[in-house]
Amino acid sequence: MSEPPYNPYPSYNEQNVRLHKAFEAVVSANERAVNAMQKGLAGDYARLLRQLKSVVSAAHENYSISGKLSWAELQRYERIKKLEEQVDKAIKDNYSNIRKRVISDQKKVIEQTYDGSVQAVISAAELGIKPPGLTGARIQEILNKPWSGVSLAERMYLRQTYLGIQLKGSIRRGTLGEGETFSESMKNIKDYVTKDYAGTKRVAEDSAHQYQSDTTAEALKGLSEKEIELTKTWVTAGDDRVRPSHVDMDGQTVLASEQFEFVSGDNKGVKTEAPGISASDEDWGCRCWVVAGIRKKGEE
Ligand SMILES: [Zn+2]
Repeated sequence: MSEPPYNPYPSYNEQNVRLHKAFEAVVSANERAVNAMQKGLAGDYARLLRQLKSVVSAAHENYSISGKLSWAELQRYERIKKLEEQVDKAIKDNYSNIRKRVISDQKKVIEQTYDGSVQAVISAAELGIKPPGLTGARIQEILNKPWSGVSLAERMYLRQTYLGIQLKGSIRRGTLGEGETFSESMKNIKDYVTKDYAGTKRVAEDSAHQYQSDTTAEALKGLSEKEIELTKTWVTAGDDRVRPSHVDMDGQTVLASEQFEFVSGDNKGVKTEAPGISASDEDWGCRCWVVAGIRKKGEE
């Protein structure tokens, strides 16, 4: 392992403990922000389901024969077209909140990660400088960054479109032949909406982790002083869910301006600024995080 962090005032150990605690606090604060996002999503999806239920229920009331809605009836007078437009509208109405939750609410993760990281280093090393801040424009840039070639906004738009295709397809398939009852229609729709909700929760969580990683790396890069240099150390969640290639990364320390490098597994040799943003299959579900370290320039 590398040299203990350098600082003329607090002891190395003390400084290390302070930094570890401060970065842990950033991770916990972000977990709370993600929980709040996910709670909000539960309400958004409940509203979406209610709106879909009223759309489908009206179609059943108006066009069912002996309790079943059939394709033959739906095809008449452009009923299917109207029904599909209402399904699309229900998704659109509610996805604006879902998108806001998953994208705009990540600003909080970015801000508290940046401020928390910078504050932690300044106070642990007693640097006595005014903490730099992130501009709104810079936050927007971080939010719009594409991961694996797709930005979060694009990813959410794809999810919205795909859910529409699934729900409309479900109604078409269900009403073919004998047709389906209202409860059969709703069961299928509920299944697709529930799956989409689970997927979106996952996207909110993974994106928050990527923003946390990216912003920590950026905050550390931005901080520099004449006498000292900043390092970053890869830290795993420390439980048995951590993949072996990340267990091997635990404790890897590089300069804040440099990249980590995977030392084992399929992606051995791949470099990354921080955990979760390597654009390889190391990112999915990763919960690792970064702790800053401070040392005298030139030491390793
Ligand atoms: Zn990991």
